Amino acid sequence: MNKFEYLMPTTIDEAISLCVSHGERARYIAGGTDVMIKIKEGKIGPQYLVSLRRVQGLDHITYKDGELRIGSLVTHRMLELSPVIRKEFPILIDAVTNIGSVQIRNVATIGGNIVNAVPSADGAIPLITLGAQVRLRGPKGERSMDLEHLFMGPGMTLLEPGEILLEFIIPKLPPRTGAAYCKHTRRSAMELPLLGVAVLISLEEDKFTCSEARIGLGVLAPTPMRARNGETILKGSKLTEDVLKEAGKAAAEECKARDSIRGEAWYRREMVEVLVPRMARIAMERAS
Ligand SMILES: Cc1cc2nc3c(=O)[nH]c(=O)nc-3n(C[C@H](O)[C@H](O)[C@H](O)COP(=O)(O)OP(=O)(O)OC[C@H]3O[C@@H](n4cnc5c(N)ncnc54)[C@H](O)[C@@H]3O)c2cc1C
Repeated sequence: MNKFEYLMPTTIDEAISLCVSHGERARYIAGGTDVMIKIKEGKIGPQYLVSLRRVQGLDHITYKDGELRIGSLVTHRMLELSPVIRKEFPILIDAVTNIGSVQIRNVATIGGNIVNAVPSADGAIPLITLGAQVRLRGPKGERSMDLEHLFMGPGMTLLEPGEILLEFIIPKLPPRTGAAYCKHTRRSAMELPLLGVAVLISLEEDKFTCSEARIGLGVLAPTPMRARNGETILKGSKLTEDVLKEAGKAAAEECKARDSIRGEAWYRREMVEVLVPRMARIAMERAS
């Protein structure tokens, strides 16, 4: 492993300026559970690691007037133990309680999970399904975008050099909304997913007609995606078993499943067809 200098800024601006001044030789580190492995495997060799651990203002979970904000330095364990996340956003509990082990979740951050941008990132799919936006700050100032548009490909995001992911903003959801996420793995021990499926459903007052639907799929394609054809089938419909199955079928057709060492495309497509209705049923239960 190559030698590196570990820098510990305490403000966002100091972190950006350190990263920019060292250019390509520098890399941010949060929990280090992805970055340190890449360094050990020789995939990257930064000379400077700019730690975000002591930077103020990145580890908040706030819930006000229905809007949720999660700082990028929040660990998976902080989400798992947060009363507001448990009560209002059980879909995030579905996701984070299955990431690695407690030891990993104690240090691994939600920001690192997203910026690392591997197709198997468990945090990305529920956040996209919840309609999360990301707030970024870099040498050119601040900007925001839908999380869905941040990903460019495996390991690639639209983040510019020196840019920090500050926080995720989940706008207020309509009344009678529920959402659920399933990480499908080969075995129930610590493992990366074969595929991840999330469904969000908002119900009309009759608690049967769907007013809003989102389907998030992950691991299948090079980046997390929304299954918009499946969503169209759900929106405005009475959510009978037939409609749920039709949505699952449409999602499977549009899901861009690929073969990988963990699973084959045909199996992943079949599981999308099964898991979309299954997650929709849980989402409906949570909504009502
Ligand atoms: C044993 C083990 C099991 C795992 N299991 C799972 C699993 O089941 N599911 C899963 O999804 N992941 C899993 N992971 C991967 C990893 O734990 C997560 O992706 C984790 O959330 C990464 O966060 P981190 O804080 O450790 O990121 P780091 O390693 O610190 O950083 C990752 C990348 O993001 C950049 N970065 C970090 N924070 C910011 C920021 N705020 N702004 C800009 N750039 C930033 C870094 O420069 C780096 O490129 C596992 C890892 C291990 C070692």
